[in-house]
Amino acid sequence: MTATQLEFAQYPSASPRSEADREAILANPGFGNHFTDHTAVVDFAVDTAGVGGWRNARLEAYGPIAMDPAAAVLHYGQEIFEGMKAYRHADGSIWTFRPEANAARLNRSAARLALPQLPEDVFLESLRQLVAADQEWVPTREGESLYLRPFMIATEAFLGVRPAREVSYRVIASPAANYFGGELAPVSIWVSREYARAGRGGTGAAKCGGNYAASLAAQLEAEAHGCKQVLFLDQFNNNAVEELGGMNVFFVFKDGTLVTPALSGTILEGITRSSIIQLAKDRGLEVQERTITLDEWRDGVGNGDIAEVFACGTAAVITPIGELKDGDEVISAPNPSAGEVTMSIREQLLGIQTGKVEDPHGWMTRL
Ligand code: PMP
Repeated sequence: MTATQLEFAQYPSASPRSEADREAILANPGFGNHFTDHTAVVDFAVDTAGVGGWRNARLEAYGPIAMDPAAAVLHYGQEIFEGMKAYRHADGSIWTFRPEANAARLNRSAARLALPQLPEDVFLESLRQLVAADQEWVPTREGESLYLRPFMIATEAFLGVRPAREVSYRVIASPAANYFGGELAPVSIWVSREYARAGRGGTGAAKCGGNYAASLAAQLEAEAHGCKQVLFLDQFNNNAVEELGGMNVFFVFKDGTLVTPALSGTILEGITRSSIIQLAKDRGLEVQERTITLDEWRDGVGNGDIAEVFACGTAAVITPIGELKDGDEVISAPNPSAGEVTMSIREQLLGIQTGKVEDPHGWMTRL
């Protein structure tokens, strides 16, 4: 199926926000608070012959979704999503970063949640449609972007537990400032001992809503201990680091080697993570994807072998990790917490995304 076979019908909003209202929002967008005037939608249904297909591609006004109260997503959480950004370059053009990687990950998540595969060109066209309609919402200020949230939900009204035969795919967009707000400051991390995020054979490698619902109690615990994010550990090795609630983790050793937890099937394969691995290798740095334990973290920071620790993801790009609280124990951040390799890779990645430095791997796609 190609995007030309699946033309997006145009039902533009009859009441888009005024320029003044939009400018007021863009003056202080925050993260995830405000949404643009439109949404791109494609529906999926299985016909009586049992053949599934995508149909009714359209761009329409942003607004509430009418859904049957028996829709499977509301009961069994059959849902997946993606997170990416549209960046405005200096000449006014709008670009996104490695959208094929998000399309591929959406389809890996879809396979795990028994949702249909969405052709990559439909995914790309949905982003193009939405950004074309809402281009005025792409911020122009440094460090800001339009966050894009593609998602797929099971809309069939049926309470039996089986994969839904009616599904809806949508994209919404939200102007975004820095995820953690303000200046680049190290994030404090709480080690979750009470809660796990994922187990073997579970959905840890998928980007599905249930993973995030399950992380909220741990997030509350972190906040109660004065921390911003949760570190989840390996379910079978309570000493091995997996990932944060919404970010992957990297360690920079004093010889320049980067270490990040291996993709064990229980962590999300971050697109920022794989981009950092590539950029580090381009610099001739060694990158190890392997088990790293809290003991190695504590000892490495203590004896100076670990020079930098950072978290990475689309929303916050690269953020140094400050202290790590594990019950009463505190593993402090290396000093300085925002190290040289962290900041230099961050600058390069942001430079590629914002069109300020060369894009050696052709990662940017114009929308
Ligand atoms: N881990 C989790 C659990 C996440 O939610 C995210 C954000 N998508 C990441 C890692 C980082 O992924 P990416 O670099 O693709 O944003």
